[in-house]
Amino acid sequence: MRQRTTGWIALAAAATLTLSACGGDDTPSVEPSDVEAADFPEGSTMAQLAEAGSITIGTKFDQPLFGLVGPDNVPIGFDVEIGKMIAAELGIGEDDIEWTETVSANREPFIQEGQVDIVVATYTINDERKQVIDFAGPYYVAGQALMVRADDDSITGPDDLAGKTVCSVDGSTPAGNIEANYPDAELVTFAAYTDCLDPLRNGQVDAVTTDNVILAGYVSESPEDFQIAGEQFTEEPYGIGLALGDDEFRTFINDVLEASFEDGRWQAAWESTAGEVLDTPEPPAVDRY
Ligand code: GLU
Repeated sequence: MRQRTTGWIALAAAATLTLSACGGDDTPSVEPSDVEAADFPEGSTMAQLAEAGSITIGTKFDQPLFGLVGPDNVPIGFDVEIGKMIAAELGIGEDDIEWTETVSANREPFIQEGQVDIVVATYTINDERKQVIDFAGPYYVAGQALMVRADDDSITGPDDLAGKTVCSVDGSTPAGNIEANYPDAELVTFAAYTDCLDPLRNGQVDAVTTDNVILAGYVSESPEDFQIAGEQFTEEPYGIGLALGDDEFRTFINDVLEASFEDGRWQAAWESTAGEVLDTPEPPAVDRY
């Protein structure tokens, strides 16, 4: 029997977890380029943001290595560095970026409603999301995986999830995949992945599923509690979400990404954040669909 429980309040209340900052102190500062609004096509999003001198970027606040708020309330991680790089090419410095927490389920609405200018948040490019927003990128390709307790060797892949309870997040591709393709698993979803950590520790769930690199961040914080089980079993190309139909802005961001792949900024951003735990990958090919 499959039971899908959304917002398991009792567990959520027990799942408060404080994560220490990782990779924060040595992230290189990103200097803004010497550009101004007049350097961009009149009326374009780039001209408007350069003129305003600020940008609002949605990112995760609870995912070590990619987007994690530090004690000063400023997030750090690879996604954060990608966001800073885009801002810098609009002449906007780090101090003029407004970071907004986005969880998986509110990314499209936040873009659609204009609450954020872009989202850089372990955000898989897919056709369903492209109905309502557009994506630049990809700038990284992750894959769905499983995390279990460090002493549990009963799960080595998604086929072992039958009869087990697996925790994930509302509005995420990993939750959608379990629901669609592994109906014998009991899926429990919360708003954020950290809500799954104490339930896994306590034995209230048997596994947590999301992208391998997100799970790697949690394992690196608590190697005595958690381990990755088996290999990744999907491809999750990470894109930068922006307003649907803003092709000029999408092209601009794709140009920034490609330049950063070539001149080493992307590699430096990786190495000072996720690269503290993970190998440095080759940059992916940008998809200018
Ligand atoms: N990359 C997947 C997604 O965009 C999972 C990670 C996340 O929820 O942010 O849904």
